[in-house]
Amino acid sequence: MPMSLTDKIAIVTGASRGIGRAIAIKLAREGALVCGLARNREALAETVRLAEESGGKVQAYPCDISDTAGVAELFKSIVKEHGGVHILVNNAGITRDNLLMRMRVDEWDEVIQTNLKGSFNTCQGVIRQMVKQKQGRIINITSVVGIIGQPGQTNYAASKAGLIGFTKSLAKELASRNITVNAVAPGFVTTDMTDELSEELKNDATRAIPLGRFGQPEEIADAVAFLATDNAGYITGHVLQVDGGIAM
Ligand code: NAP
Repeated sequence: MPMSLTDKIAIVTGASRGIGRAIAIKLAREGALVCGLARNREALAETVRLAEESGGKVQAYPCDISDTAGVAELFKSIVKEHGGVHILVNNAGITRDNLLMRMRVDEWDEVIQTNLKGSFNTCQGVIRQMVKQKQGRIINITSVVGIIGQPGQTNYAASKAGLIGFTKSLAKELASRNITVNAVAPGFVTTDMTDELSEELKNDATRAIPLGRFGQPEEIADAVAFLATDNAGYITGHVLQVDGGIAM
């Protein structure tokens, strides 16, 4: 199926590594001009370089998505600079794992501030302008953990389940304006985030995945790219699991 994002302006959060980097490069290769956001400037610059190498264009915008005022200011300037935004991918996310009985308040707060409030901040930064242009695609990266839970991740699961409710509610708010809002729920994907897991946990997880392996960031990026195209125009409020079957 041919997919083209030519002339589209996309914002991808968490574009400095892992799944976000793969999404930024994929959307850029499909023809979009991608604004890549993250805190680490050097890592963002590497995403820009890799995109260029594969024939796409990513521009770096260093940003902490949990900073409401900072995001509002940056998004205003991105909209002004590019004349509009067609695609927003809320990918940036963190974990601060702990059993609830030991979890510190800052571990709870940091995860909610980044994973959930970060998406509130970025969506508020684009939806007015998307409504005006009567066109938009918002794709939120949630997790199978938000669907099936995981011990040690009550904060993360709450943020990701919250993002699913957020996705469906926003989809209903914006559907009449030709803006779709969907979520992609990865299972275990090989990135820095899963690198932190013990070998024992990785082996247990692999055994529990019907396809028998972790996913690659590019496999999540393919699903996101599809949802960003015109081919997905009749899909909204959906949670697309890209998880090797672990949460079926
Ligand atoms: P990762 O390798 O740890 O990358 C996380 C990205 O988020 C980085 O680019 C990081 O950039 C950015 N980020 C974190 N906090 C930020 C902030 N406050 N402001 C701006 N950017 C921020 O993680 P990943 O595995 O690629 O995960 C990407 C997304 O997929 C996350 O939402 C994660 O929850 C979700 N997910 C991952 C898996 C998995 O198995 N890997 C499974 C399910 C869902 P800086 O550090 O440069 O800011």
